[in-house]
Amino acid sequence: MTSKKRWDEIYAGDNPLALPQNIVRGVRERARKGARNGSVSVKYLWLYVSDVALGKHVAEGGAMSAEDWLSVVDEAAAHGCKYAIISVGDALRDHPEVLEMVVWAQSAHGMIVGIHMYGEPVAEEDVDLLVGLDQAKTCFFAPRPTLDAIAFLRDHGFAVLSAEEDHHHDATPECHLPEEMTCVNASGRMYTCGLVLGDESYGLGHVLERKLTTVMHDEALPHWIPKGLDKSHRHCNGCPPLMIKRMRELAEQRESARDADEAGSPA
Ligand code: SF4
Repeated sequence: MTSKKRWDEIYAGDNPLALPQNIVRGVRERARKGARNGSVSVKYLWLYVSDVALGKHVAEGGAMSAEDWLSVVDEAAAHGCKYAIISVGDALRDHPEVLEMVVWAQSAHGMIVGIHMYGEPVAEEDVDLLVGLDQAKTCFFAPRPTLDAIAFLRDHGFAVLSAEEDHHHDATPECHLPEEMTCVNASGRMYTCGLVLGDESYGLGHVLERKLTTVMHDEALPHWIPKGLDKSHRHCNGCPPLMIKRMRELAEQRESARDADEAGSPA
């Protein structure tokens, strides 16, 4: 079986590489056409369940409940969302709602989910918390310095990849990936993407007060990031379309290695 066929079997749906591959050209044009036709949906969800990214451990305005998060997942899935990245800055054991969200997104909606541990890495003693997650549809992302600390997750069937994205927006063109994505912080405020999390000039409203489709179709809202904007120390780390691309590349490498093994093994 080819790599592409196996990926399509596991991750049923359209090609997740298309968007990141065309970061400059095709995405912009397709998204603009979609906006004109009223067909733009939420393909990627980026959920920051803790505001450690902003130096805060408690969400301003009150944290979202597990039920709130699940309703966001449901709404996004109903509008075509296939991929979610959940960014967690605290210990996973302090966020039981994350596991609930992942299990629900995978079992109810068949979504592919990345868990982006940008603060404290998953501890070995917490591996029992991961029971119930679909390993084939889950990947753990972490900064490079903590990748070794969570390498043990591979022994439990999970993919482990770097969350770091090296391109900087002072050197890259404007980014239109947010035209198919929304990013929600711990108190439910939506932003264009994680790069501008907490910057109200990129605020899209509250996820429990506005419908996602209304937000995505609102052309008065900022659904793109201009060239030259690179003020976050986290850069584009954990960005869903880029992380999904990475997951696909890993799946293809594994498949090629498996095909090579099979070709080399005696009949
Ligand atoms: S995080 Fe970076 S790559 Fe991702 S949407 Fe924002 S600007 Fe674009």
